[in-house]
Amino acid sequence: MKYWFGPYPFYEDSFKLVEAPYLGMEHQSSVTYGNKYKNGYLGRDLSGTGWGLEFDFIIIHEAGHEWFANNITNKDVADMWIHEGFTAYSENLYLNYHFGEKAASEYVIGTKRSIQNDTPLIGTYNRNNRGSNDMYYKGANILHTLRQLIADDQKWRAILQGLNKDFYHQTVTSHQVETYISEKSGIHLTQFWEQYLRTTMIPNLQYTLQENQLRYRYIDIIKGFDMPVQVKINGVLNWIQPTGAWKTLENNGKIKTLDVQQDFLINSSLIEKQ
Ligand SMILES: [Zn+2]
Repeated sequence: MKYWFGPYPFYEDSFKLVEAPYLGMEHQSSVTYGNKYKNGYLGRDLSGTGWGLEFDFIIIHEAGHEWFANNITNKDVADMWIHEGFTAYSENLYLNYHFGEKAASEYVIGTKRSIQNDTPLIGTYNRNNRGSNDMYYKGANILHTLRQLIADDQKWRAILQGLNKDFYHQTVTSHQVETYISEKSGIHLTQFWEQYLRTTMIPNLQYTLQENQLRYRYIDIIKGFDMPVQVKINGVLNWIQPTGAWKTLENNGKIKTLDVQQDFLINSSLIEKQ
């Protein structure tokens, strides 16, 4: 965790893992543990890829909370995605450190299967009201998407460490975290956060293929959402920047295959004609 999130934030308090009769819980410098000494989540792989069985879920997840939850704490529980989104995301960072980027991506993409899109990640303020349980793995996949957009792991790591340094032992709002990441990444993320944190819509990339022409646009988006995504055209990686309006990309030669990269939290659908 130190590699990605920076120094352990409670060094003076030590770190203890305490056996408990329930599954586990984050407590500052004293994580409770009851995962039956099995890898995975009580022996289950939440991602369905096999990678979830490479670590003891409760040790990694609850320890991850020392940074997001215990070091950086939400002011209002409506913003609890700051705790669970970043911590669920830390599971794949652990894999990234020990098994490489491919393992990490496969794991976090695998966890998309638990996303319900029932209610938004952010709950109602001043009502002791949490957002959706999607705060875990939709949260993790939002951050994984962001890593692709930043496309510079040094910078991404500096942002994750910077959050833990600049908000050290503080309570924060989601808005502060959103602004911080926008500013440090140099990417205008207003619509990105609005779409993913405050609506249940997953952007859908609609596209048509005609000979050497790719036509594409987003549906199920808020106004102004224009997140770039990577697609493989005939096996070659390209960035495209869809908006709500149709755009055309002329390819050098007939388009035989188009693969939308799963590292982005979007749906895609091939349609006959617009
Ligand atoms: Zn948690």
